[in-house]
Amino acid sequence: MTLPPEQDTAPVATPQAGTMGLRIGRPGDPPFDPDHAIQIADRVWWVGHYIENDIFQCHTYLIENGDQSVLVDPGSRVSFPHTLRKIGEVIPLGHIRYFICHHQDPDITACLPELDPMITRKDALLVTHWRCAVLLKHYNLRFKFWLVDENDWRLDLEGGRRLRFVFTPYAHFPGAICTFDELTGVLFSSDLFGGFTENFSLLATSEGYFEALRPFHEHYMPSRDILSFAISQLDPLPIRAIAPQHGSIIPDHLVRFMMDKVRSLDCGLYMLAQKNTNFLRLSLLNKILRDITNTLVLYRDFQDIATALLGITQRLIPARALSFYAQADDGKALWLAPENRFRGELVNPPETVAKLLGLTRQDWAARHSLNFAASRASEVIEAEVAHPCLLVPLFAPAEGRIHALAILHLADEVKADDDLADVIEQMTLPLQVSVEREVIYRTMDLQRNQFYEQSIHDPLTGLFTRTFMNDTINRQISIHNRDPAAGVAVALVDIDHFKSVNDTYGHDAGDTVLKRLAKVLRQSVRSADLVIRFGGEEFLIVLLDTTTASADQVAENIRAAVEALEIPTSGVVLKKTISIGISEFPTDSDTLWQAVKFADVALYQAKEGGRNRVVRFNTDMWSNKKEY
Ligand code: GH3
Ligand code: MG
Ligand code: MG
Repeated sequence: MTLPPEQDTAPVATPQAGTMGLRIGRPGDPPFDPDHAIQIADRVWWVGHYIENDIFQCHTYLIENGDQSVLVDPGSRVSFPHTLRKIGEVIPLGHIRYFICHHQDPDITACLPELDPMITRKDALLVTHWRCAVLLKHYNLRFKFWLVDENDWRLDLEGGRRLRFVFTPYAHFPGAICTFDELTGVLFSSDLFGGFTENFSLLATSEGYFEALRPFHEHYMPSRDILSFAISQLDPLPIRAIAPQHGSIIPDHLVRFMMDKVRSLDCGLYMLAQKNTNFLRLSLLNKILRDITNTLVLYRDFQDIATALLGITQRLIPARALSFYAQADDGKALWLAPENRFRGELVNPPETVAKLLGLTRQDWAARHSLNFAASRASEVIEAEVAHPCLLVPLFAPAEGRIHALAILHLADEVKADDDLADVIEQMTLPLQVSVEREVIYRTMDLQRNQFYEQSIHDPLTGLFTRTFMNDTINRQISIHNRDPAAGVAVALVDIDHFKSVNDTYGHDAGDTVLKRLAKVLRQSVRSADLVIRFGGEEFLIVLLDTTTASADQVAENIRAAVEALEIPTSGVVLKKTISIGISEFPTDSDTLWQAVKFADVALYQAKEGGRNRVVRFNTDMWSNKKEY
């Protein structure tokens, strides 16, 4: 046994002029006549058998080399009688010395037991790979084996014509070689470059022929790694045409194109097949799967992903929109839909959806025979719309529970069958991954918003907090400053003798007073003005767009309103007063923070002056600031 693939390293011979390339498909060449042998290249003949209306044509080739001729992939019991006749049109059968078997399949070798007794010459050889020979010996033939791996992977024919063998393992490792004819540049490629041909033509004429190769390879070849290895073995050869055992012969100008396309195909579709034997559909599914994977690799933004996935789905079913519900806390669901531009919204899911979220695989299987359920839009969105839709459960991989539902809105009813289930199967895993990823992002976003909302609103009074003030007030002021005529007044409010409320009636009573006063403050200013709980029982009011007189008036109104207010709490009715310090910006100060400081100075004056009053800041107060 020789280890592959130590192949021929001898330089490729330069063929005589005029021997390279194909001799079919040229202007003036006769049309394909399946009843006769056809010379496809210099002394290379197609001697196959054309089976009408069969997409799986099988070819046998004859390399004419005097009484040292070669038959490539002899054929089956179906084709061989025809092949025999066609060989006879070219040379006597006895002139064939070499019978190449690229692998052991019946469409190549089933004729051997029939052929064996016909071959009378003693030096006839069955040319193959050792791994194929161990199988072919079970035919119990008289033929002697000539193993390519024991003969430097080349066969020198009389007259200087050399055949090279290339190790190209694929679906079945046994056999799995190709033959390259140095003289003509023809590669006899066996199953590689095979094609399923709907309207058979002996010669491939355009790049479009790749679509015949695609399903053949995707379905039959076990993996892309193995296939691209096989193709890489062929790369160094000066191939001028490819004569495969199935499908059409590939001419020079398409050779590199087909090699490159085949090299990168996703293979192993038969592993998906299970109950589905329609390889063309499988090939379509494979393309869809590939496109879905590409979508996930290409796009980050979930809206882009959802849009692309919808487009892919539309190739198969009349889908009009795609939306999702993902399970969230407290019976809520995160709803991702075109309506909210896939930004995500926490909603109470409709009953149909709520019932499905959280189900186990077993629960689902007990209720639904397919991996989706038919429904109507009115059951899964709030609107009164009647169009049909499909609910596709997305399971959380770890728990095996439905963590999200994809909803495919349809323009028309579709047939809910195994075929559709296959399509949905292809989409499910990538969808699961992308929805899960999106749910994490969206939930984090929503939580962040929620935290922020919490941090800017004081839970007791509902007023803005100092956090909000620090975050936004400069922005508010700078927007406001675009109008230099408009002033900003700040009013610092402090409840008079508030401590006594707590001390006398308890902390809860104090809280009630704070809430009640906060409401009065809020109601006394315009909606654009800002009311901030500045400290325990201190409030800051930022009055935008005010004149000095109107700020004073607002403050006085607030003071009077509070003074008049009766606050029932803890079985008593409390009355409180407030003191207010006012400062204006930019009249009194250059910055807002300076204005707040000045308002505090004025507030101190108000307290000093006997409380329950409004005091406006003036610079005299600041010059005496040492006292404060
Ligand atoms: P002054 O007229 O000088 O302002 O007297 P005051 O009693 O209002 O002054 P002080 O600043 O000493 O008292 C403020 C009190 O407010 C002390 C504190 O217990 C109380 N307080 C601060 N935050 C809260 C709160 O959220 N709820 C309640 N019930 N009381 C609070
Ligand atoms: Mg105080
Ligand atoms: Mg106080």
